[in-house]
Amino acid sequence: MSTVRLCHLYPAEMSIYADRGNIAVLRRRLEWRGMTLEVTGAGLGEPIDDTFDVYYLGGGQDRDQEVVAADLGPTKADALRSATDDGAVFLAVCGGYQLAGHGYTGVDGSRMPGIGLLDVDTVASTGPRLIGDVIIDAELDGVHRRLVGFENHAGRTSLGDVRPLGRVVHGHGNDGASGGEGATRDHIIGTYLHGPLLPKNPALADAVLGWALGHAGHDAALEPLDDALETRAHAVAASRAGVRR
Ligand code: GLN
Repeated sequence: MSTVRLCHLYPAEMSIYADRGNIAVLRRRLEWRGMTLEVTGAGLGEPIDDTFDVYYLGGGQDRDQEVVAADLGPTKADALRSATDDGAVFLAVCGGYQLAGHGYTGVDGSRMPGIGLLDVDTVASTGPRLIGDVIIDAELDGVHRRLVGFENHAGRTSLGDVRPLGRVVHGHGNDGASGGEGATRDHIIGTYLHGPLLPKNPALADAVLGWALGHAGHDAALEPLDDALETRAHAVAASRAGVRR
């Protein structure tokens, strides 16, 4: 039976936005197709290796993010770099997105170093938090996809030599000004969208699974599923944000 191996980074510290829901979606969409997901947690002080097909890093409060930032470089950055160079997936949401970049400067000015896998940098603004429903137009494997989610961040993220995950149709995105949301290269995705992200964006869940299966050496072609419920969840989120699908 085909198995995808996922490493959940800092599940205790960085899971405040229903991040486990994202992992449950990946598991279920594999199971519906007769495959399995094997999840390994990696917390503070625990080194990881570079053999996983997917690495997942969720969001956290500034306080937790600070502890994680200090640990990520010494115990996990090398493996993440090597794995993603080899085509593994890295999905980083919100605080995780900020730490996948060069770092995050919090509201009190403290610097939390990131691991620079995405050429982005984030500074917290003393202005209003960027909160609300978001719709973006993204391209996944060359196919246009509309993604929906919820954002809640003080950080303003600026992009260097990397493309945004999508163009903001509604909401704030990376900084509330540039019109971009998230960042992506190879099979690395950083995004502020949570809520959680994958239940109402089945196309994104399947893009992640296709990449992961390819990395695991399995057939990456996924049979279509009946996504009626997921499509409705997507539509509800989109209409709440004021734009119809
Ligand atoms: N602490 C970060 C910010 O506010 C990320 C918060 C989060 O994960 N939502 O920008």
